[in-house]
Amino acid sequence: MTSTAQAEVGSGSKADADELVALVREFARERVAPLVRDYDAAERLPRDLLAEMANLGFFGGTVPLEWGGLGLDHPTFARIIEEVSRVDHCLGVLMSMPSALVGSGLLRFGTDAQKNRWLTPLAEGRIFGGAGVTEPRSGSDVAGTQTRYRTTADGFVLSGAKAWITNLDIASFFVTFATRDPSLGRDGLSAFIVPADAPGVRTAPFRNKLGFRPLCSGELLFDDVELAPDALLGEEGEGYAIAMTAVERGRLSVASRAVGLAQSCLDASLGYAQDRIVFGQPIADFQLVQDKLSAMVVGIRAARLLTEQCAHAMERGERARQESSIAKMFASDTAQSVATDAIQIHGAYGVSEEYPVARAYRDAKVFQIVEGANDIHRVLIARNALREARAGQ
Ligand SMILES: Cc1cc2nc3c(=O)[nH]c(=O)nc-3n(C[C@H](O)[C@H](O)[C@H](O)COP(=O)(O)OP(=O)(O)OC[C@H]3O[C@@H](n4cnc5c(N)ncnc54)[C@H](O)[C@@H]3O)c2cc1C
Repeated sequence: MTSTAQAEVGSGSKADADELVALVREFARERVAPLVRDYDAAERLPRDLLAEMANLGFFGGTVPLEWGGLGLDHPTFARIIEEVSRVDHCLGVLMSMPSALVGSGLLRFGTDAQKNRWLTPLAEGRIFGGAGVTEPRSGSDVAGTQTRYRTTADGFVLSGAKAWITNLDIASFFVTFATRDPSLGRDGLSAFIVPADAPGVRTAPFRNKLGFRPLCSGELLFDDVELAPDALLGEEGEGYAIAMTAVERGRLSVASRAVGLAQSCLDASLGYAQDRIVFGQPIADFQLVQDKLSAMVVGIRAARLLTEQCAHAMERGERARQESSIAKMFASDTAQSVATDAIQIHGAYGVSEEYPVARAYRDAKVFQIVEGANDIHRVLIARNALREARAGQ
């Protein structure tokens, strides 16, 4: 996408947004669909496909134009992530990272020099990044982070281990979190930008995952990694706030990807149910099949509306804590039940890789775990509701 086109998309008109959504849809159908089954099996995203996406400006998202992004509004961003996810949500992960898990902390807390060095090339798709929050013994409990840092005359030294970190194979840097003293809980946490090639950084990918197979996730290890003072993102002690900013934006992405994946299952099921003849008639004529189709239609519509509501809250500049939990939890639960029903409708063919629903089924389960396990969101949603009820009394 040219810089003129970027400026037009960033202008926020509905026609421009529709045009971008149509461009992403066409790209996904024509360029991604023929490849996805093979690269999912190979557990590797094709680099030339990512280069094509970079040329089209697909990584720019909500990052402002001045930092190399498209300056999209959040509802349009959610629409393009949904659109690509109708074919492969793993590309949606990469498209969302500059605006969400990796880039949102840089945008909000970074210095101009940090944004120039990391955010702009990230939004332009010239480099990729990763976010290192989860640890082998603390996924849900971010305040329980054990990775340590100490301050030296030359900057900082980081040591510890992260687990399940995505983009180990392609990231040029990681935004990660460490504590100066674990007994301080969330107050002890600081955020750091760690170049992937810094001495002492090691990676150990996990292979043969259930889902999200093209993404390279695994251990990110820091063995006394020496960092210059400009590696600190935000102020010391702001790490928890930075992590929450990142995961909140990330939840909009998970919700959009879950809606796209669920829609792909519905599309496939509508087609298959009309083609498959059993007992002399299309299975679409059986009311129990129709029951599944109608549950899919309603669930997806509701999930999309909740995702839009979350995107609009973010667009108004609100924290969107409750909206992002509701959208992420509902959309991922919907994706999981829709994918399960889609397999049922496809019968035995549903479990073969010949049809896309098997991959969707494997990926849908993972949505319920990443960016806050859904059980955690249940707790958070109830807590927020109780807080609001008490405030209103
Ligand atoms: C494919 C993949 C990619 C990932 N990519 C990244 C990445 O790029 N960066 C990153 O930092 N992380 C990443 N993760 C990690 C992911 O964010 C964590 O798995 C998630 O936060 C849950 O943490 P955990 O797995 O340690 O689960 P745990 O915290 O061990 O929890 C296990 C289960 O216990 C239950 N539980 C825990 N606490 C509570 C509670 N308070 N109330 C009720 N139930 C509870 C829930 O059911 C939960 O699922 C990725 C994970 C996967 C699978």
